[in-house]
Amino acid sequence: MGGTIAMAPSASGGIVPSLGADDLVAAVPGLADLGVPVTADTLRSLPSPSLGFDDLVALSDRVRAELADGAVGVVVTHGTDTIEETAFFLDLTVESDAPVVVTGAMRHPNAAGADGPANLYAAARVAAAPTARGIGSLVVMSDEIHAARFVRKTHTVSTAAFVSPAFGPIGLVVEGDPRIRGVARTGLTLAADPRTADLRVGLVTVALGDDGELLRRAGDALDGLVVAGLGAGHVPARMVPVVADLAARIPVVLSSRTGAGSVLRQTYGYPGSERDLLERGLVQSGFLDPAKARILLQLLLANHAGREDIAAAFDRYR
Ligand code: ASP
Repeated sequence: MGGTIAMAPSASGGIVPSLGADDLVAAVPGLADLGVPVTADTLRSLPSPSLGFDDLVALSDRVRAELADGAVGVVVTHGTDTIEETAFFLDLTVESDAPVVVTGAMRHPNAAGADGPANLYAAARVAAAPTARGIGSLVVMSDEIHAARFVRKTHTVSTAAFVSPAFGPIGLVVEGDPRIRGVARTGLTLAADPRTADLRVGLVTVALGDDGELLRRAGDALDGLVVAGLGAGHVPARMVPVVADLAARIPVVLSSRTGAGSVLRQTYGYPGSERDLLERGLVQSGFLDPAKARILLQLLLANHAGREDIAAAFDRYR
């Protein structure tokens, strides 16, 4: 798909996507000994901030086509900035038990200590592993195996940027061998409907002193909204009327800007607390962080899910 793993210096300065899938595969020692043939294809060559839902629909279609054609697993190389969103999109739209593994690099191929080849090797080992079947889409970075629904990028440059704050990685690659200890699948599968690219689901991070005015002005442009609330899922009291008004018109999901843990349901009772907001029709996101909640809501809306279906889908992530 592109990303730093496939970048090289450009004439005008800085690194840009340049390498194709064949180049990436050729740079990895040991792939020939994987025990299964490896085929490589370049679907997109983009920095991951510029990927859109149309690209994710095309990727999901392609992954499902490869698996239908008999692939034992699929590795997707991808920019790290949005890897967690793409991995979760695949988790939600690929029903097969075959491993779908997304990986990337924090250091580009010409940098000292480039991590791309090691990440691609580990990802390929996981994609070919029978033990990785039936546990949902995965992100493999730095020999750690993360469930798509939990993983987050938490550092701008570190090769240890990827963590699963809720429960940790579900496995490790040891001496090239995937050792998996966790089960990740939720059982929810949604169609990768091209309509996802036409919908606008907002993601608004709440901050101290927010009166909701910016959100009120954006309201008419939204088909759905994810509120990255304070703490366990809270907004300032002054913001409540705006959020409540939107929740009466469009699905509004309550998540947390903290980056770890589940939003609460029944602890705090003040205006703008999670109890107040859920009573006003917001839907809790459980352990899904704001970016993941947005992917799920976008897909649910594209699949014409009603309010009850939306609440039930998010309930799976409690
Ligand atoms: N900006 C890059 C991208 O997401 C970063 C990376 O790949 O690590 O495409």
